[in-house]
Amino acid sequence: MSADTNTAVPALSRGAVADIWPAQADGQLRVNRRTEGRLCSMSATEIDLALHTPPSRAFPSALIGLPGGADGRSRCAGIEITDHYTTDDGRARITGRFAGRIHDVVSSQWLLPDFDPTTMAYRLPVDPAVMRTWQAAKIYEPVLLDRVAGCPRCGCVPTFRSGCGRCRSGRTDPIKLIHHYACAHVGSVKEYEAEGSLICPKCRTRDPMVGTDYEYLTTHRCRDCGWEESQLASVGHCLACDERFAGNAAQQIVLVGYRRCVDRLDPLAHVTES
Ligand SMILES: [Zn+2]
Ligand SMILES: [Zn+2]
Ligand SMILES: [Zn+2]
Repeated sequence: MSADTNTAVPALSRGAVADIWPAQADGQLRVNRRTEGRLCSMSATEIDLALHTPPSRAFPSALIGLPGGADGRSRCAGIEITDHYTTDDGRARITGRFAGRIHDVVSSQWLLPDFDPTTMAYRLPVDPAVMRTWQAAKIYEPVLLDRVAGCPRCGCVPTFRSGCGRCRSGRTDPIKLIHHYACAHVGSVKEYEAEGSLICPKCRTRDPMVGTDYEYLTTHRCRDCGWEESQLASVGHCLACDERFAGNAAQQIVLVGYRRCVDRLDPLAHVTES
């Protein structure tokens, strides 16, 4: 990623202190098993580390943090462990290659929820349970992105329409009404139309003047249940679970993304001198 490209990065030397977070194959960091070690060697594809304390048991992958990032941050990369071994002087060592799930995750500056049109839901590229461990390790921090409406039943993203406030149907028709000021009668335009002119059906006034004698009003009638109201209601419909609900009953979904708060270690740029 271009955001990771530092023009002047200090070289890493042998003996640099490394943070090591053992990890599971699915990407979960074992935050409370974080350990320290020292850099023995690094190539573009591999790293060799001496651990300060031997691990209680072998782990399949790890996140490695080395010094030298911008503003005192560490530089991180993921490895798949290819060897756990003990040197002649009894020190625990690990060798790993820069690859795998951990390496993929930490390559991204941002991890953002994406809308999946097949499930009608937002989904993070990394499982939330995995993400919690990255947050606990202070590798990523959550960032509030947006709030969106969600289905009150299943939480998926619903569609909205203006519709019937009783049965929540979208099959409504607008009906034009006339309000005759003098006698206060309100009726449909059809009721007023007679003998080729407008006649109030209540007080029989003939040809009243619009604006002066009467005004037009609109009502909405539901074809399915006969409900009638001057204002349509906001109606939500979830395409995932088929629930229909009043618009104000939608739940709020908080969209959170994650920003990496360490730098990415680019093995190609930091090969140790042997
Ligand atoms: Zn739903
Ligand atoms: Zn209705
Ligand atoms: Zn009238």
